[in-house]
Amino acid sequence: MAAVAIAVPLRKVFDYRVDDPQAAQIRPGVRVRLAFGRREVVGIVVSAPREIAAGEFEYRAIREVLDSEPLIDTALIELCSWVADYYHHPLGEVLAAAVPTHLRKGAATSLPQTLILRLTAAGYAALTQLPARSASMKQLLSAIAERALSAADARALAPTAALRRAMTQGWVDSVTSSNHTAIDSELENGLQAAARSTPEQAAALLELKQRLGSYSTSLLEGVTGSGKTEVYLQLTAEVIAKGQQTLVLTPEIGLTPQLTDRFIQRFGRRVASYHSGLSDAERTRTWLRARAGEIDVLIGTRSAVFAPLPRLGLIIIDEEHDVSYKQQEGLRYSARDVALVRARRRNVPAVLGSATPALETLHNAAIGRYAHLHLRQRVSSAAPPRIEIIDVRTQPLTQGLSTPLLDAVERHLGAGGQVLLFLNRRGYAPALVCHACGWVAPCPHCDARMTLHRGRQRLLCHHCGMISRIPDPCPDCGAAELTPTGQGTERIEDTLRLRFPEKRIERFDSDRLARAGEIERLSRAAHAGEIDILVGTQVLAKGHDFSGLSLAGVVDADQALYGTDFRALERMGQLLTQVAGRVGRAGQPGQVLLQTQHPDHPLLLQLVNEGYPAFCEALLRERRAHGLPPFSHLALLRAQAVDEPAALEFLRHARTALPASAEVEVLGPAPATMRRRGGVHRAQLLLRSASRAALHRVIGGWIAQAEPMNAAHGVRWSVDIDPADLF
Ligand code: ADP
Ligand code: ZN
Ligand code: ZN
Repeated sequence: MAAVAIAVPLRKVFDYRVDDPQAAQIRPGVRVRLAFGRREVVGIVVSAPREIAAGEFEYRAIREVLDSEPLIDTALIELCSWVADYYHHPLGEVLAAAVPTHLRKGAATSLPQTLILRLTAAGYAALTQLPARSASMKQLLSAIAERALSAADARALAPTAALRRAMTQGWVDSVTSSNHTAIDSELENGLQAAARSTPEQAAALLELKQRLGSYSTSLLEGVTGSGKTEVYLQLTAEVIAKGQQTLVLTPEIGLTPQLTDRFIQRFGRRVASYHSGLSDAERTRTWLRARAGEIDVLIGTRSAVFAPLPRLGLIIIDEEHDVSYKQQEGLRYSARDVALVRARRRNVPAVLGSATPALETLHNAAIGRYAHLHLRQRVSSAAPPRIEIIDVRTQPLTQGLSTPLLDAVERHLGAGGQVLLFLNRRGYAPALVCHACGWVAPCPHCDARMTLHRGRQRLLCHHCGMISRIPDPCPDCGAAELTPTGQGTERIEDTLRLRFPEKRIERFDSDRLARAGEIERLSRAAHAGEIDILVGTQVLAKGHDFSGLSLAGVVDADQALYGTDFRALERMGQLLTQVAGRVGRAGQPGQVLLQTQHPDHPLLLQLVNEGYPAFCEALLRERRAHGLPPFSHLALLRAQAVDEPAALEFLRHARTALPASAEVEVLGPAPATMRRRGGVHRAQLLLRSASRAALHRVIGGWIAQAEPMNAAHGVRWSVDIDPADLF
């Protein structure tokens, strides 16, 4: 008999009978085909087979063993088991998140015999040397460099003629897989050499190199442009020289192709990327190549934390503070935290990099749990920007833009600078209002307003995705005119176009970037300095390296100031600091302007006058005073139901059924901040404790009794450990 993990929402593994000829093959990590209910499914064996005792229950047989070698090794099974325990999630679903779809369904593990494209030395040279107007060729070449593309995949990405041209130019050739990472000397010469380190980089590298070979966590804190990526690259070179693999986690690859580009330019074919933008076939190939040891550097988003890397020697977590490391649905894990656990279990070092580390990371560094390395100066020796506050209460506004801000834009453009305007709200206007009767277009399914999108001529709900026509006239009173109220990025873009008609203005937000290839095109254009004004949402604040920016304007610094979540201020500080970090060139300090209605807000002033570290110290003092993370641990029990009383009743019942513990405080139940979303009501129960162990005992105990009666109520519930948001 063997225990098998199956991807179903039940927190248990399932025992199946092993028949004689199979027994030799059954080992942890092997995939098996079996009957589950009326379906046939593929599961993963998670324990060594054992004898069935006489008189024991009659088990169903395993139908077929799919692998002669385990698909995943014991270390990875154990990591997944840890994740399943810690996040109170079914092991079968954790394994499903760790394995690409094709393999989960039983696809063969032999590396595919299709021809895989790769760049030649000339191809790597072309990638760096082609002019910016060859954007689509560059895009094709970088896709070939970072993914295991077949010719068919490439045809889906670019016109056949482009691939043909790349091949006749000698930029691309093809191999039948297996060991095509081997670097020939010609290619090696074409790759970019390491920069000579600055004294700060040298000190950080010395320290980090000494840590190779065993577990430790180091925080590499450095402002944007201080050379963190260069430190990653040189440390990775050391790891490659030792014959080991490096895992690089990044919040979003599509938005920040620069990170991947730089690893590719330095290490060529040794690098591959793994993220949700790849097709299933590409993901599978890359995963198998990583497992076969063909890849030395794997750069990936969240789920890459589970990628099989038999020679793992280093884990780098870039932009470690980014909330997108936390998955917000299903398996609600933090890839950053899992990466640190993986590093500890594999006894390899982890490096957390950020210009704006998370409060909990700073706290861990302060108490000595992490080493704290600093890069304080920008490599370019650009002075940090001046940050100034504009009190919008005393200023005339043009569509949300104050005169001093517009004047500054004009001045910087006149001096040949590039300008960035940041507003974390996409669409044209966040509300459509009837001034005759006060009606505001509501989402029929959420407690929220519809956002007007002028480009699409539609109203959109940003919470449930509902799309509707723009009403005409007012559905309530019949008045003819409905007024767009407030600003989104589309409206700021329009306003600027009117004011600066000859300038190239581009909008960066998820609406605009949804088009395939648009992100790469725009961010390369911005990088090359071809855009005069960039208007965008937080997409802009991510790790982009726009070298020519001289002014950044934050249209509405108040969005986060009075947010409902306890992390809102931390996020605001990170965002403002990241935006500010994009500004300034050698010998020419940039300028940052913040528009606010609360120019006296003490924390805003502290951030502006003393900088992010002092701001974080103040926030940590507040967190300590209120017993919030990192000074306590939280878990959230969420419930959803079509009618609100059912959700609240479920949680009230859960509250009484929770195993008693003097160490765990229970708050609620209470309706979520947005009570109704997508037609369902949401409520939550918050658990807080100074002791992780106590918190997990209580939750685990409750789940054990609650899980069997799950479906009865028409209520869906979920557990969120270390929640990123409390709503
Ligand atoms: P960060 O990752 O902290 O934003 P980067 O590593 O991207 O910083 O460095 C910023 C810029 O400076 C990049 O263009 C990089 O190529 C360059 N750079 C980094 N280190 C050095 C160095 N030691 N000498 C010269 N240029 C460097
Ligand atoms: Zn009306
Ligand atoms: Zn909605």
